[in-house]
Amino acid sequence: MPRTTAGPQLPLDVRHRDGAGQPDADLVAGVLDALPSPTVLIDPDGTILLVNSAWAASGDLLEDDRLEVGVGGNYFEVMLSLSDDAVNHERIEQLRALSQGLRKRVSADYALSTVTGVRWFHLQASRADESGRVVVTHTDVTSRVEAEQASAWQARHDHLTDLPNRAHLHELINSELRRDREPVTVLFLDVDGFKDVNDTLGHEVGDGLLRELAGRLSSHTRGEDTVGRLGGDEFVVLCRNCDVDGALALAERFQATFDEPFQLGERNTRLTVSIGVATAPGGNSDVRSTDLVRDADLAMYAAKSAGRNRVRVFSPDLRSAVEQRVLVAAELREAIDAGQLVLHYQPVMHLPTGEVSGVEALVRWQHPERGLVMPCDFIPLAEQNGIVVPLTRWVLGEATRQTVAWEQLGLTLVTGVNISAAHFGTGTLVADVHDALTAAELAPERLVLELTETSVAEDPLRAAAQFAQLRISGVEVSIDDFGSGFSSLSQLVSIPAGVLKLDRSLVAGTETRRSESAAAIAAVVGLATACGMRSLAEGVETADQLDLVRELGCTYAQGFHIARPMPAAELPGWLARRPSPAGRRASTAHLQSA
Ligand code: C2E
Ligand code: MG
Ligand code: MG
Repeated sequence: MPRTTAGPQLPLDVRHRDGAGQPDADLVAGVLDALPSPTVLIDPDGTILLVNSAWAASGDLLEDDRLEVGVGGNYFEVMLSLSDDAVNHERIEQLRALSQGLRKRVSADYALSTVTGVRWFHLQASRADESGRVVVTHTDVTSRVEAEQASAWQARHDHLTDLPNRAHLHELINSELRRDREPVTVLFLDVDGFKDVNDTLGHEVGDGLLRELAGRLSSHTRGEDTVGRLGGDEFVVLCRNCDVDGALALAERFQATFDEPFQLGERNTRLTVSIGVATAPGGNSDVRSTDLVRDADLAMYAAKSAGRNRVRVFSPDLRSAVEQRVLVAAELREAIDAGQLVLHYQPVMHLPTGEVSGVEALVRWQHPERGLVMPCDFIPLAEQNGIVVPLTRWVLGEATRQTVAWEQLGLTLVTGVNISAAHFGTGTLVADVHDALTAAELAPERLVLELTETSVAEDPLRAAAQFAQLRISGVEVSIDDFGSGFSSLSQLVSIPAGVLKLDRSLVAGTETRRSESAAAIAAVVGLATACGMRSLAEGVETADQLDLVRELGCTYAQGFHIARPMPAAELPGWLARRPSPAGRRASTAHLQSA
């Protein structure tokens, strides 16, 4: 079909009602030509009555001549030549209805494959006059649509790995669950020790690892599966038409992708992954994606708890274990206000003088049904559920108040309080300690905060800054359980702690491997001294161990051999009953000397 331009050949009776009532076809043509969008005027059958120059120029969009249709051609045929599909048939019906005055306008976006790639147009049609002629404009909206598509894509994908994100994964899993057919399986993967990579090698290396991992996982999935990232180091794989056996085989393949070491910064490091698997039967409309992912998460958590680097399939008992934990966490929250927490105090002996110089406050939960619950059974729960800060505030308040009460009985003691790593993250530690001291009117020198070395290792800079503030205010800091975890000597030197508490495993070792353990203790004591710290041996259970740690130069000792933790009310009696050399009294004078 020959290409036609607008103006000269108007076969129309398009009239501009001026004073003389003369048709002014030139004016109409001029107005249409001024429109930047390709525009046609058609009659009720689709015959093209008028086109503008932009329409004529749009013929260049295609390599063939399907768009090169001018006046006299049929617009509906042009539409069908571009795409003879249900959408276009429907649109033609809409245009006919518009022409008959049955609707007000027609508008739609459509894509066109052009010589420069896919372009998007917005079609807008309105009835031109009573005779049913219709004006159709086609505006190029490619940049708008592309921007919308880009932002829609971004909203559904993870910016670091380009994988589907949490929201999109849930959409995909839900739509799969709605389909009435094969089972749907979800794999939940979590890299073992990823936090250590971030903490020790930095976030850039951590990000690189996640990208590398995304690539490895994607290359090991079948075409019909989808890998997505929930956040952090948590990846989810949606396996379509896959039962438990198929998923286990896939999980093994994923584990195998970890056989090859990862390049982390300068080093080549081997990593492992824990995987949880959960399956929903096909066509089960009751299951939602959040349920399935949560079950897979629980299974992953069980895999981690069982020692990492393994695959675990979800079973309902995992859910009840979690429900139990949630229940206990809720109870614990109330227990603080209900006054169910109690502190027991374990005496600390100053070895050079044999005197009791202080105590460590150890929390217990006096549960109405379960009796006295030990901290190992609820502190981790408190840490995971955001309860440890209110709990520690209570401990600080109670321990400082008790220390002042003893003082009024003539017992001068330094009291140790355990602080969780999570407390550093909240940034309220310094203020919480200050508030407790002020409320109890206790001198800061009489409080020692005990922090485990691992909590210090988690965020050394942040920890060091808060340590420094505490020490400036006069509060002592000790490093608890030293020797039980990831000991970084360089970090130790940078922390302004006053006391190093040797983990009881070091002391216990003296029973079986006396000379090696003694050498280890001597080394740690030497290190503490070199860093200007005093040392405290924990877990001293026998007279022999007490003699040994004294000989090895420890400043303090604590353990069942000296005394078990006891309620506050028992301490004055216990101190009074101690078979002690004449004149021995609780005192803190020596705490000031290294
Ligand atoms: P920790 O701070 O290292 O406290 C010492 C633990 O060792 C106490 O256990 C104590 O009873 C036990 N122990 C003391 N001497 C001996 C001994 O000779 N042999 C043996 N086998 N054990 C001994 P407990 O009271 O069960 O506390 C366990 C852990 O719970 C504490 O370890 C501490 O990490 C945590 N914890 C206790 N109270 C609190 C608290 O108020 N806040 C926080 N965040 N953690 C606490
Ligand atoms: Mg402690
Ligand atoms: Mg300890």
